[in-house]
Amino acid sequence: MPRFREFARPTPNLTAGRNACLGVVLHHSVMPFGPALDRLTDPASGVSYHALIDLDGTRCVLAPDDAIAHHAGVSSFRGRDGCNRFMLGVAFAGDTWVEPLTAAQIDSVLEWLQDRWTRHGWTPDWITDHRQVAPGRKNDLCPSEWTRVEGAISGRFGAGGPP
Ligand SMILES: [Zn+2]
Repeated sequence: MPRFREFARPTPNLTAGRNACLGVVLHHSVMPFGPALDRLTDPASGVSYHALIDLDGTRCVLAPDDAIAHHAGVSSFRGRDGCNRFMLGVAFAGDTWVEPLTAAQIDSVLEWLQDRWTRHGWTPDWITDHRQVAPGRKNDLCPSEWTRVEGAISGRFGAGGPP
Protein backbone atom coordinates (compact mmCIF):
# COMPACT_ATOMS: atom_id res chain seq x y z
CA MET A 1 0.00 0.00 0.00
CA PRO A 2 1.68 3.22 -1.07
CA ARG A 3 1.99 5.73 1.70
CA PHE A 4 2.34 8.85 -0.40
CA ARG A 5 0.03 10.33 -2.99
CA GLU A 6 1.32 10.18 -6.53
CA PHE A 7 -0.08 11.78 -9.65
CA ALA A 8 1.07 12.21 -13.23
CA ARG A 9 1.67 15.41 -15.12
CA PRO A 10 3.50 14.50 -18.33
CA THR A 11 6.29 16.81 -19.45
CA PRO A 12 6.93 17.60 -23.10
CA ASN A 13 10.61 18.20 -22.33
CA LEU A 14 12.03 14.86 -23.44
CA THR A 15 14.54 13.65 -26.00
CA ALA A 16 13.54 10.81 -28.31
CA GLY A 17 15.21 7.52 -27.44
CA ARG A 18 15.32 5.06 -24.61
CA ASN A 19 16.85 5.64 -21.19
CA ALA A 20 19.12 2.78 -20.14
CA CYS A 21 17.81 3.18 -16.54
CA LEU A 22 21.15 2.33 -14.91
CA GLY A 23 20.58 4.51 -11.86
CA VAL A 24 19.26 7.77 -10.46
CA VAL A 25 20.52 11.35 -10.17
CA LEU A 26 18.92 13.19 -7.27
CA HIS A 27 18.27 16.93 -7.43
CA HIS A 28 16.53 19.73 -5.64
CA SER A 29 14.29 22.08 -7.62
CA VAL A 30 15.05 25.25 -5.60
CA MET A 31 11.49 26.35 -6.50
CA PRO A 32 8.52 25.17 -4.46
CA PHE A 33 6.53 22.20 -5.80
CA GLY A 34 3.75 24.05 -7.71
CA PRO A 35 5.89 26.59 -9.55
CA ALA A 36 8.48 23.90 -10.25
CA LEU A 37 5.84 21.70 -11.91
CA ASP A 38 4.75 24.62 -14.07
CA ARG A 39 8.34 25.14 -15.19
CA LEU A 40 8.99 21.43 -15.75
CA THR A 41 5.96 21.15 -18.05
CA ASP A 42 6.65 24.39 -19.95
CA PRO A 43 8.27 23.69 -23.33
CA ALA A 44 10.03 27.06 -23.06
CA SER A 45 12.09 25.86 -20.08
CA GLY A 46 13.25 22.68 -21.79
CA VAL A 47 13.92 21.02 -18.42
CA SER A 48 12.39 17.96 -16.80
CA TYR A 49 12.79 15.25 -14.19
CA HIS A 50 11.14 11.85 -14.02
CA ALA A 51 9.58 12.78 -10.69
CA LEU A 52 9.31 15.69 -8.26
CA ILE A 53 8.70 15.17 -4.53
CA ASP A 54 6.89 17.77 -2.42
CA LEU A 55 7.66 18.54 1.23
CA ASP A 56 4.81 16.27 2.38
CA GLY A 57 6.07 13.38 0.22
CA THR A 58 3.52 13.81 -2.58
CA ARG A 59 5.08 12.77 -5.86
CA CYS A 60 4.41 14.04 -9.34
CA VAL A 61 5.57 11.67 -12.07
CA LEU A 62 6.52 13.68 -15.14
CA ALA A 63 7.94 11.01 -17.44
CA PRO A 64 8.06 7.23 -17.79
CA ASP A 65 11.26 5.60 -16.57
CA ASP A 66 12.51 4.80 -20.05
CA ALA A 67 12.17 8.40 -21.27
CA ILE A 68 15.18 10.66 -21.64
CA ALA A 69 14.46 13.67 -19.43
CA HIS A 70 16.48 16.88 -19.33
CA HIS A 71 17.82 17.01 -15.77
CA ALA A 72 21.57 16.55 -15.69
CA GLY A 73 22.96 18.56 -18.63
CA VAL A 74 26.71 18.24 -19.17
CA SER A 75 27.54 15.45 -16.76
CA SER A 76 29.37 12.23 -16.25
CA PHE A 77 29.13 9.23 -13.96
CA ARG A 78 31.21 6.08 -13.77
CA GLY A 79 33.11 6.97 -16.91
CA ARG A 80 30.07 7.72 -19.06
CA ASP A 81 29.12 11.17 -20.27
CA GLY A 82 25.61 12.52 -20.67
CA CYS A 83 23.74 11.14 -17.67
CA ASN A 84 20.34 11.98 -19.15
CA ARG A 85 20.66 8.97 -21.47
CA PHE A 86 21.28 6.41 -18.75
CA MET A 87 20.13 7.87 -15.42
CA LEU A 88 16.70 8.85 -14.18
CA GLY A 89 16.27 12.25 -12.54
CA VAL A 90 14.31 12.75 -9.34
CA ALA A 91 14.06 16.10 -7.57
CA PHE A 92 13.06 17.20 -4.12
CA ALA A 93 11.08 20.44 -4.02
CA GLY A 94 12.94 23.21 -2.22
CA ASP A 95 16.57 24.14 -1.74
CA THR A 96 18.63 21.76 0.39
CA TRP A 97 21.14 24.55 1.09
CA VAL A 98 18.35 26.51 2.81
CA GLU A 99 16.14 23.84 4.38
CA PRO A 100 16.91 20.17 5.03
CA LEU A 101 14.84 17.51 3.29
CA THR A 102 11.73 16.55 5.21
CA ALA A 103 11.41 13.03 6.60
CA ALA A 104 8.44 12.60 4.24
CA GLN A 105 10.58 13.49 1.23
CA ILE A 106 13.14 10.86 2.18
CA ASP A 107 10.47 8.22 2.86
CA SER A 108 8.80 9.10 -0.42
CA VAL A 109 11.94 8.69 -2.51
CA LEU A 110 12.48 5.31 -0.81
CA GLU A 111 8.94 4.34 -1.84
CA TRP A 112 9.59 5.53 -5.42
CA LEU A 113 12.84 3.54 -5.47
CA GLN A 114 11.23 0.45 -3.95
CA ASP A 115 8.89 0.17 -6.92
CA ARG A 116 11.82 0.18 -9.31
CA TRP A 117 14.79 -1.29 -7.45
CA THR A 118 14.47 -4.90 -8.51
CA ARG A 119 13.01 -4.17 -11.93
CA HIS A 120 16.01 -2.07 -12.92
CA GLY A 121 18.57 -4.06 -10.91
CA TRP A 122 19.78 -0.94 -9.08
CA THR A 123 22.42 -0.90 -6.37
CA PRO A 124 23.15 1.95 -3.90
CA ASP A 125 26.32 2.92 -5.74
CA TRP A 126 24.25 3.78 -8.81
CA ILE A 127 22.31 6.44 -6.91
CA THR A 128 24.04 9.82 -6.97
CA ASP A 129 23.27 13.52 -7.07
CA HIS A 130 23.63 16.38 -9.53
CA ARG A 131 26.57 17.92 -7.65
CA GLN A 132 28.58 14.72 -8.08
CA VAL A 133 27.83 14.21 -11.79
CA ALA A 134 28.42 17.89 -12.67
CA PRO A 135 31.11 18.95 -10.19
CA GLY A 136 31.80 22.65 -10.02
CA ARG A 137 28.77 23.39 -12.18
CA LYS A 138 25.87 22.22 -9.98
CA ASN A 139 25.48 22.22 -6.21
CA ASP A 140 22.42 20.03 -5.58
CA LEU A 141 22.20 18.33 -3.18
CA CYS A 142 23.84 20.10 -0.26
CA PRO A 143 26.45 17.53 0.91
CA SER A 144 24.92 17.04 4.37
CA GLU A 145 21.53 16.29 2.78
CA TRP A 146 23.14 13.94 0.27
CA THR A 147 24.66 12.09 3.22
CA ARG A 148 21.25 11.80 4.87
CA VAL A 149 19.46 10.46 1.83
CA GLU A 150 22.34 8.20 0.84
CA GLY A 151 22.30 6.72 4.34
CA ALA A 152 18.57 6.07 4.11
CA ILE A 153 18.96 4.41 0.71
CA SER A 154 21.86 2.23 1.83
CA GLY A 155 19.95 1.31 4.98
CA ARG A 156 16.93 0.21 2.97
CA PHE A 157 18.53 -1.32 -0.10
CA GLY A 158 22.18 -1.94 0.74
CA ALA A 159 23.78 -5.20 1.79
CA GLY A 160 21.95 -6.63 4.77
CA GLY A 161 18.83 -4.57 4.17
CA PRO A 162 15.61 -5.97 2.77
CA PRO A 163 15.34 -5.74 -1.04
ZN1 LIG B 1 19.96 19.46 -10.37
